[in-house]
Formats: sequence, C-alpha cells, structure tokens
Amino acid sequence: MRGDPLGNKSVERQLVVVKFGGSVLACERDYIRASHYVRELLEQGLKPIVVVSATKNTTQDILDAYDEMNTRKIEMVKARHESIVSGLGRNSPNLNEVQRLLEELEKTFSAYKLLSLDNGSIKDLLVSFGERMSIHLMTEALEQAGINAVALYGRKAGIVTNEKFGEAMPVRECCELVKQALSRHIKAGIVPVIAGFIGESVSGRITTMGRGGSDFTATYIASCMLAGEVQLITNVPGVFTGDPKLFPNARVVPTLSYEEAIELSHLGGKRFHPRTFEPLINTPIITRVRSLDERSRETIIKSGVSPPSLKATIVTGPLELITVRGTGMVGRLGTAARIMSLFSSAGVNIMAIGQPISETSINLVVEKGTSNRVLEPLRELVSSHYIRDFEVIRNVASASVIGYGLRDPRVLGRTLTLLKDKHVLMLVKGPLDLSISTIADEKTAIDIAREFHGAILEQIEH
Ligand code: ASP
Ligand code: MG
Repeated sequence: MRGDPLGNKSVERQLVVVKFGGSVLACERDYIRASHYVRELLEQGLKPIVVVSATKNTTQDILDAYDEMNTRKIEMVKARHESIVSGLGRNSPNLNEVQRLLEELEKTFSAYKLLSLDNGSIKDLLVSFGERMSIHLMTEALEQAGINAVALYGRKAGIVTNEKFGEAMPVRECCELVKQALSRHIKAGIVPVIAGFIGESVSGRITTMGRGGSDFTATYIASCMLAGEVQLITNVPGVFTGDPKLFPNARVVPTLSYEEAIELSHLGGKRFHPRTFEPLINTPIITRVRSLDERSRETIIKSGVSPPSLKATIVTGPLELITVRGTGMVGRLGTAARIMSLFSSAGVNIMAIGQPISETSINLVVEKGTSNRVLEPLRELVSSHYIRDFEVIRNVASASVIGYGLRDPRVLGRTLTLLKDKHVLMLVKGPLDLSISTIADEKTAIDIAREFHGAILEQIEH
C-alpha cells in the first residue's frame, strides 16, 4: 500500500510530516509542548503537516468500554478531556468542539449499549472520537502559540478508505484526494492537523486502520505529498537494540533501512502498525523516530542499508511449540497443507513453521494458550494413523535478531556461533529473511537474545 509511485519526482524538502503519538499527548502541557515544537520547525523554514493520535490511553479506554459495555471507561475519557480543555482555557471554537464531541461520544455509546449490535462500524465510530478530539486540542494549542492551523479528519483530509472496519486502507484515489485537501492549506500558510488512524469510507462512514495506525497515516500522507521527511514523535528517543527492561544497556539504533524496520514492526519490536513503512519503501523520504525530551539521540529510517549489519533483538513469548511426527508423512503430498489447515480451521495463528528435509516432523509455533484448540483434531489424525504422534511444548519463547547482515554468509556464520551451548528447539531463517528466529525455553531464549544483543552492541561501539 504505497502512495503515488515517485518515479523521478523529487521530494519537497521543507515539507515535514510530524506525528505525535498518544504517549506524548497525556495532558494540556503535552499539547503546548508539541505546539512549541511545531513552531520550532516553522522557524527553521520547514512546512509541517501534523498528524495526531488520540490522547494517552483514550483508544484503549474506548475499546474496553466497547468490549465490556462499561460506561465508566467513557467517563474516564470524558474527565481526561475536560481537564485538558480547562487547562487550555475555555471558550474557543476548538475547545467547544471537544465538549460537543464528548457529548456525542456519550450519546453514541448509550445508543450502542441499548442496541448492542455492531458489524464493526460502531466500534470504529466510537474509537474515532479519540483522534477527532485530539486534532482540536492540538489546533487550539497551535493557535495559542500564534500558528494558523486547521483540524482535519477523514474526507476533509482526503483520507478515504475502503469499508473494512478495524483494518481499513486508503482507496486508490486517496493520494490525489490528500494532495487536493492539504495543498491549499499549506499554500495559505496554514498547518493542517490531521487525525491519524481514522479515515472515512466513500459512503461517508468512519473507519479505523488498526492499532497504531496513526504512524501509517503519517507515512502515507508523506508519500502522497512527496514530503522530505516524517517524524514519529514518541516517548522514547528512537528504536532500541533490545527491550531496555531486559537489557539495561540497550542503545538507540542509529539507522534502519525500511526493510529492516518492517521486519522489526512485524516482530513487534516497537509497536508500529505493521504497514507503517510500506508507503516509504524505495522513496527518498526519511523517517526520524525521536522524543521531545532527548534530542541528542534518534533513529533514522531510510531506503538502503547502513551499518551496523545487526540492528536489534526481540524476545517474543510465551509461545507453544507443537511437533507433529510420523514416517507416514514422508513424501506424502498434502500432509503439511492438511496439518496447517487444521490450525486455520481452529482459528489458531501459526507464528513460525519448520520441517526438516527428512519430512519426519512438522514443527509449528503458536501463541500461548492457543494450542489447546488443535489438540482434538490432532488426536483424530493419530487415531486415523495419518500421523504417529504429536507433542506440545509449552512456555517456550523466540529470540530473534534482525539485520541486513544476515544475508551475508560471514555475518550469518558468526551469528550462529552465538548459539553454541544453547539448547535451541527450532531455528527459522529463509534466504531473503532479515531476521533469524530461534525457539527455546523461555529462559534460554532470553540468554540467546542476550548473546545477540552483545554482538549488536559490539558492532555499534566499533
Ligand atoms: N490511537 C490509536 C491507537 O492507540 C492509533 C495510534 O495511536 O496510532 O492505536
Ligand atoms: Mg499511538
């Protein structure tokens, strides 16, 4: 899903898409701080396009309210926003609009509680209030800082999507619409403040693009507008080499290629929306992940690789490993397909797969607690002698390492030596993969990740 192909078109360097995540929008001071940052960009001669997420915890609160039919969570959202509104002052069109939206949110929620039926569209409508209020809070803060700004969402921002509620994506003409919608404001010197994560369908219904979707909104808009860069402003100063909770010596990765960043988002390294970097692949647009607290560090993400050749390690778990065995499977066509379809029918997502060339086993890794759903169908395969037996190993985890270097036999070789003396249950790497995943018991997985992390730090430090 990318914007317009760039071809030979060059980017407009001054144009910068700045996205403020929910983690940096918790109270009125945060909005004021963000507005000062935008003013700094303007003073540097840049033309910012602002994308905002909902205030901290708001999306989750509304989703919880929806799932639990719990009005209290809506009241929490209300109290949070009222406090920000009163912190910013009272009477202004933007703040009045936030008050109005709060009332509308309450009414919409009551109607939903009463009817309690939904095909996903009410859920999207309800969560959209988070971003729709946030654009007005940000616009208010910008105006108070003396900046002309306009709050936009959905069609008004050109973001027209299909109607896949909860995972909507822009329609083909969307980029053109974004350009039309934003260009006139930018020409007039007005900063557009756009609701990330949400869109509007052709028939005018509000949609959302999936958790963390405001990063995608930012990169998508940048690709349409041919912006010089995207800044993802968050509460950490960049992407880390490893989880600082596990590895206190973790460092900010200086640069990542878009491919590496995509691998990382899919491994859940930093909670980016999985499609965040798709619009920017092969473009000259650069992305900076940075925080407002610490300006001396940041991660720059761009097309093309740069050192270090190993970038980050991620531990994923707890997981469960299912080993299906039987010599009857050897050379029999369709065995793997049959086993895997059994998982999909049971609604179990397979996270990693491996089969040795001997074909005597198939190993599948799933999320903790989900293997139970395939036990019965697997037992049936045993009784019909299709497979000999199977085993579930619980409480395993995966230690992955990411970096373009894994495509280089020397780096790959050195990385594999880090596994010596480690009891690895399963190892996955494909020819084009930018990551290796090793499955082991939870403690061993952390030990392996520590080895990976040590190797990454060594590269960064030299
Ligand atoms: N507010 C949405 C969420 O929490 C979108 C985002 O933050 O990117 O998922
Ligand atoms: Mg967010």
